[in-house]
Amino acid sequence: MSGRTALVTGATAGIGRAVAVRLAQEGADVIVHGRDAERGAEVVAEIEAAGGTARFLQADLGSTEDVLRLAEAAGEVDVLVNNAGIYKFQSTAEMTPELFDLHMNLNAKAPYLLVRNLVPGMIGRGGGAVVNIGTVAASVATSYTGIYAASKAAIEQLTRVWGAEYATQGVRINTVSPGPVRTPGTAADTATLNAIAAGMSAMGRVGEPEEIAEAVLFLASDRASYITGATLEVTGGRPAIGPKAD
Ligand code: NAP
Repeated sequence: MSGRTALVTGATAGIGRAVAVRLAQEGADVIVHGRDAERGAEVVAEIEAAGGTARFLQADLGSTEDVLRLAEAAGEVDVLVNNAGIYKFQSTAEMTPELFDLHMNLNAKAPYLLVRNLVPGMIGRGGGAVVNIGTVAASVATSYTGIYAASKAAIEQLTRVWGAEYATQGVRINTVSPGPVRTPGTAADTATLNAIAAGMSAMGRVGEPEEIAEAVLFLASDRASYITGATLEVTGGRPAIGPKAD
């Protein structure tokens, strides 16, 4: 990753933070994005203390103007990790139209705007990589996740289309789809997190942000040079349906 600039959205917490730290360990110059400047400064300090380079950029990705401002301020980006996201688990009746819009804007439109504005620069400089963060809930019916899952299904399908669209122009675009992961965002309800893990992960456990970051690093790196348009599930496996094989 040396000599490459990586923009990681939502890098002030959770999975994004682990991705930013891991990319910096591999030599990337990391742009730590988020809204919380204090936590942003903490991540930058952690990276610098380990000998890496990073800077913080603030933007609310629910706002189109702010996303465009972020793309402009980031400048030349070689690796884009579309991680920032919102997930409100609610029934269809509880979900409001405003929250629907927020899920779509943050989880699907912001990645689209960043790809649209940053990938041409990657092509102009000879190539790059984009890794989107999806969710296994986009392909497994999971209670109370309908609108969230739909917004992530959008990014998974965009990944397939973008992978093909940019395949001959040196830019690879993939998605990592995690299962339940222990982050500040999921910390408030560990009972639900553990129940989801018990039901949908063959390993039966919650994942750690660092385990997701390894998959992101791989897909962002040249080691994944023949992989594009793909969605890699990082869930501890899917449980088999039917009687136990033992
Ligand atoms: P988290 O702990 O809640 O952290 C969310 C990050 O996104 C923070 O850095 C936050 O920045 C940023 N963010 C939130 N709203 C934003 C906004 N309006 N504008 C700009 N940045 C915003 O999240 P996480 O659990 O690590 O999840 C990260 C990604 O993984 C999400 O896309 C999520 O859907 C996906 N995912 C998570 C899990 C899981 O179990 N944790 C499972 C599957 C997929 P600030 O706090 O600085 O605003």
